[in-house]
Amino acid sequence: MIYLDHAATTPVRREVLEAMWPYLTGEFGNPSSTHELGRSASVALEDARARVAAVFGVRAAEVTFTSGGTEADNLAVKGIALATPRGRHIVTSAVEHPAVLESCDYLRRLHGFEVTVVGVDGEGLVRPADVASALRPDTTLITIMTANNEVGALQPIAALAALAKEHSTPFHTDAVQAVGWIDLRLDALGVDAVSISGHKLGAPKGIGALISRGRLPLEPVLSGGGQERGRRSGTQNVAGAVGLATALELAYARKSDTELAALRDEFIADVLAAVPGALLTGPRERRLPASASFCFPGTSGESVLLGLEARGIVCSSGSACAAGSDEPSSVLLAMGIAPEVAQTAVRFTLAEDTTREQLVDTVNQLRVAVESVRSLG
Ligand code: PLP
Repeated sequence: MIYLDHAATTPVRREVLEAMWPYLTGEFGNPSSTHELGRSASVALEDARARVAAVFGVRAAEVTFTSGGTEADNLAVKGIALATPRGRHIVTSAVEHPAVLESCDYLRRLHGFEVTVVGVDGEGLVRPADVASALRPDTTLITIMTANNEVGALQPIAALAALAKEHSTPFHTDAVQAVGWIDLRLDALGVDAVSISGHKLGAPKGIGALISRGRLPLEPVLSGGGQERGRRSGTQNVAGAVGLATALELAYARKSDTELAALRDEFIADVLAAVPGALLTGPRERRLPASASFCFPGTSGESVLLGLEARGIVCSSGSACAAGSDEPSSVLLAMGIAPEVAQTAVRFTLAEDTTREQLVDTVNQLRVAVESVRSLG
């Protein structure tokens, strides 16, 4: 099998599993327990927190472990908006993950917030001028993702965060797809809060974190025993936290993504040359190094996926959450792509160990799969 769906999830790295193993077995204590087992779990948890904090250039107390990206986004959007007395207006973008868009909608439905959803250009990029004109004196939060999960577009986060700062408005970014690829130190980016998830970078599913400035008030979403300094109740996933810290360090120890980006560019060029009518979606340059996404007009994305899977290649039509749905992707529609073309989307997401041979094979199989779907339709 050639696995090209790393934006959906990644296998757990061996080093990550090895680091986690003791906390799943002998050292299984609850970090809130006061006995020896509990104390050693607590030491491991706090060590993991400090290691995560170092990656983001923040204090350990600014890291809140969550069950993943969805929970981190919920905590950021609901938590910041509900804790900030300034007003009831949120600015977000049309290409956000549902974890952000649905959290905004929850605030609109149940707490009387107004939500301004700014559009994107044809490459899926937010224009800072649109965000500037959406800002109001009562804007409580701006939330715009670092990198898009469907087309890999890298948003102009530093420019957007600078705008937010000028306006003294908290800025949150969903960096679930960007983590491991992009420098996410909060000072370098100028942001106030970042959501991440472990399973996109070689840690297991079910662990993530919200990194947020200590000065930023945050209303908890989960109430209970007051773990994570009251920001996220629930017994912590100690092994997951250790795994997340390890996966982050490994990802950021990578020397350069230039080789992978070059391999990806070659793949994009080969697909565009081999498959008549193929369209690249998202930016050519400003995209994640591992991401290549296309539309193949005259097909259906789902049929192409099935054809590829039958030939041993696993990828997806866009976001894993929307897989199996007949609706065209709202991200592609927001980019101005016609619904009948958006329905033909296929996303390939590579990893460090993806080889040129695998990609050459993929292009050949893709050409046959697209031809065969077109000949039937
Ligand atoms: N945000 C983005 C951009 C994502 O791509 C995903 C998952 O695909 C999430 C949030 C949700 O993360 P998790 O699967 O850890 O809940």
